[in-house]
Amino acid sequence: MTLPPSLRVLSSFTVRKAVIAVSSCALLVAAQSASSAEVKITPLGSHDGEFCKFDRAMIFEDPDGTRLLYDAGMTVAGFGDTRLGDIDVILVSHMHGDHVGARHTRAVNAGSCDSPDISVVDTPNTNSVNIALEKKAKIITGSEMPGFFSKKLETLGGNAGDSQLVRFGASRQVGGVSITTVPAVHSNGIAGAMIGGNLGHLLDAAGLTAYAGPPTGYVLTFSNGLVVYLSGDTGITAEQESVVNDHYDAKLAVINIGDTFTTGPKEAAFVINQLVEPASVIPSHANEASTKDGKVIAGTRTDSFIKLSDVPVHLPLSGRTMAFDGKGRCTSGC
Ligand SMILES: [Zn+2]
Repeated sequence: MTLPPSLRVLSSFTVRKAVIAVSSCALLVAAQSASSAEVKITPLGSHDGEFCKFDRAMIFEDPDGTRLLYDAGMTVAGFGDTRLGDIDVILVSHMHGDHVGARHTRAVNAGSCDSPDISVVDTPNTNSVNIALEKKAKIITGSEMPGFFSKKLETLGGNAGDSQLVRFGASRQVGGVSITTVPAVHSNGIAGAMIGGNLGHLLDAAGLTAYAGPPTGYVLTFSNGLVVYLSGDTGITAEQESVVNDHYDAKLAVINIGDTFTTGPKEAAFVINQLVEPASVIPSHANEASTKDGKVIAGTRTDSFIKLSDVPVHLPLSGRTMAFDGKGRCTSGC
């Protein structure tokens, strides 16, 4: 091979130095991309580009590709919803129908933002179990929920072992994500309709629910170092400071602001400002249409929460992917 004149004058020493320079440059680039790796969060609400009444569902994607679906609820349009993609893990904070999915929307954008069409009934299976079966995903929960999900999966032809337990203070690793549950102060009964048969019927008739142990929130630690607190439905609780902040040091919080059933905007802002102290926060579970054309509607609970929060508030606009670095700062999509 004939080298061009400019290269012919390079001594082998010069070439070696050039090779070393190129490879250390490649190492530097690799190190930079590892530290700047981001967690991607995509809300799956009822209406594209909005934050609507029943929106709870979010997909979290680790930089290593592991994908978790949090509280599928009623706005994921069943297991065939094309927004889901691959799902490795399904998280269910507690057994209430708007979180586990007692029913679901007929189609994305069906109905209106303040009254989404949730006409497809999922009981006794639940939307979460149907999605787990279709995606061959694990359902990872705390309390007494794993036994219930195990039986559901088995009865429906799935693998009972795909329902896995993680109680308070424990952790379970899936891909690059460490998952734990944290206390939530709420309730957690299983409705008769989710149980079916005689037992379900008798519970409904008596106005009672079945015991599922305490409700939970989650703390997720991703491979880029990002620690995320998912409140689930909860009131104000001391563990938001002692466990979520002091021990896990969560940098991003997803907090429910709906009032009546959970902390309202004032209480949620207290939790964020005084107890959890993350770098940024995503509101959820507003129980009303919060946006129009992607902008916050004045006077809504979301509007109040934004005004009261000391840290940046990022709206969970359905279908919009936000990216967060290890320190809980939004780097794109917010
Ligand atoms: Zn609830």
